Amino acid sequence: MSYTSGLRKFKERPVHVTCPACNHRADQKAGKLRKDAVLECPSCGLLFLPSECWCIGG
Ligand SMILES: [Zn+2]
Repeated sequence: MSYTSGLRKFKERPVHVTCPACNHRADQKAGKLRKDAVLECPSCGLLFLPSECWCIGG
């Protein structure tokens, strides 16, 4: 596997993010988190930024 394809895989890798409002854990793409794109909680619909909530883990 080349370095580049490894990076792409990391971008697509799902990361569990815990919603700051309802504590629902949802899968978000790692690439989105790195870009600090707005995330939507599928449970309560809250929009939040990854940098506002680093309750992120395996
Ligand atoms: Zn939520």
